Amino acid sequence: MSLKACRSCKVLTDGDTCPICKGKDLSEDYMGLIIVLDPESSELAKKLGIEAKGRYAIKVR
Ligand SMILES: [Zn+2]
Repeated sequence: MSLKACRSCKVLTDGDTCPICKGKDLSEDYMGLIIVLDPESSELAKKLGIEAKGRYAIKVR
């Protein structure tokens, strides 16, 4: 299974469409992975602008 990262939300998905913005601008070239379970209490999620729980790339190229 290969995950792709959305270039605008940084969310990781194994589908062809971003589950958050419904965009198709996905990249297989990303670095880092964080799992956000509770975006409201995660400082890292706030820093990265993450508002929904899920798996995210730290950096998308
Ligand atoms: Zn997106």
